[in-house]
Amino acid sequence: MSGRIKTLPREGHPRQDVLEAMEALRDGDVRWREGRVFSLVFHAGDDLKAFLHEAYGIYMAENGLNPSAFPSLRRMETEVVSMVASLLGGDAGVCGNMTSGGTESILVAVLGAREWGKLHRPSAKAPEMVLPRTAHPAFEKAAHYFGVTPVFTPVRADHRADVRAMRRAINRRTVLVVGSAPQYPQGVVDPIGEIAHLAERRGILCHVDACVGGMMLPFVRDLGYPVTPFDFSVPGVTSMSTDLHKYGYAAKGASVVMYRTPEIRRHAYFASTDWPGGIYASPTLGGTRPGGGIAAAWAVMHHLGYEGYLSIARDVMRTARRVRDGIDAIEGLCVLGEPEMSVMGVASSDARDIYEVGDHMTGRGWHLDRQQNPNCLHLTINAAHLQIADELLADLREGARLAERDPRDRWIERGKQALINTAVRVLPGRVTSKLTDVVSKRMGVGGGGLPRRSAAMYGMMASLPNRGDIGKLVVDALDGMTRLDAAEDEILPDSPRAPAAE
Ligand SMILES: *Cc1c(COP(=O)(O)O)cnc(C)c1O
Repeated sequence: MSGRIKTLPREGHPRQDVLEAMEALRDGDVRWREGRVFSLVFHAGDDLKAFLHEAYGIYMAENGLNPSAFPSLRRMETEVVSMVASLLGGDAGVCGNMTSGGTESILVAVLGAREWGKLHRPSAKAPEMVLPRTAHPAFEKAAHYFGVTPVFTPVRADHRADVRAMRRAINRRTVLVVGSAPQYPQGVVDPIGEIAHLAERRGILCHVDACVGGMMLPFVRDLGYPVTPFDFSVPGVTSMSTDLHKYGYAAKGASVVMYRTPEIRRHAYFASTDWPGGIYASPTLGGTRPGGGIAAAWAVMHHLGYEGYLSIARDVMRTARRVRDGIDAIEGLCVLGEPEMSVMGVASSDARDIYEVGDHMTGRGWHLDRQQNPNCLHLTINAAHLQIADELLADLREGARLAERDPRDRWIERGKQALINTAVRVLPGRVTSKLTDVVSKRMGVGGGGLPRRSAAMYGMMASLPNRGDIGKLVVDALDGMTRLDAAEDEILPDSPRAPAAE
């Protein structure tokens, strides 16, 4: 790959030029303010955004690493954790910390479970964790990082965890079982009561991943919708994760990890006592902890309050129901399972290729995740989507109509894929890596920009001889993403005439 190096501009650019270049750069991004993206951005209006901006700015320079230097952040963090815990059935014994996001919350919870296991399951030399296949990849990442073996169990036809399969997967090495409220792919809540009961009976830990649901389900429940019990009110639940940068509508970089007792939390902590730089201890994965995320979360929770969140949840649930009913009414499309809140998977209900519907949506400026096993598109309805439900449904209807076609075409398509896959196996390496390049570009991760036609690419991926190839392909694509592309212009080219910064 022909690389390129960018050096620091010799003379600084004027502030205005820098800011304008940054604004212009956003033209290529998905239009999240208009509700075109799902799950990457949670937006509750420009007014709230301006408030968050201000709150974040006040504490932008502060560092939560050292609570004795910044008692302000320590107090805000503690109050945020307590407010979330109280929404989630926690008593005064529940404790926790803020982290940079759901992934970090899950990482520290799994690390804590591993360390807890050393004390409470000393025979478990190689600790294991039992989790439904639908649990977020952050758990697999934690397993990968911390040397815990993940034991995946299948889910039931309604996409919820199969507790019988989980029970069978537990053995003397198991330190942790996992349930999600809700799980991400189809938005259904696992049977947390049964999973936690299982953990309690075996004397092991149980983590509930309420990253997406923790700041939504309590309100959904209070609005009168049926919600499977999922929080600390369920005996046997020992830790939980809840993101504030999702339905908490906080600034990014805000999540909470909670433990039923301080005794459980201790195992997740780290302390170094012999470093020449002093005694060093930290509760989470990071070192420096940005004050802005903590402060903005504290601010938005105080500003919205219970009634504010309830009112947003009411609107979001109405919209989610409208979208769900609307999709079920479209010929050839359906919502999978019985999602309990506003997260759902949209699948084809006949022979149509749902990824083709996804391609149509991309062409219309929407950004929908493509999911697999089963193939479906993903929707996370939030406050940004209240006004666009009708347009979304109209485009889905059109997409479904266009994806309807002669079954013979599909056989021709399959034939082409089979050919490509044979080619992958017999062609020399240089040619196949070229092919990989092409596929990565199509995924929208290689050459920048958003994917255009993913249906063909997914078809090809699905028929690759083994899943390991896909892993390698994705790592190649990731690798390419953070190299300067010789074909791409600099954002802010260095000009010899650029005046120095004022
Ligand atoms: C978003 C999410 C996570 C991970 O959170 P990040 O903030 O993206 O790290 C974990 N679990 C579920 C169910 C989620 O929706």
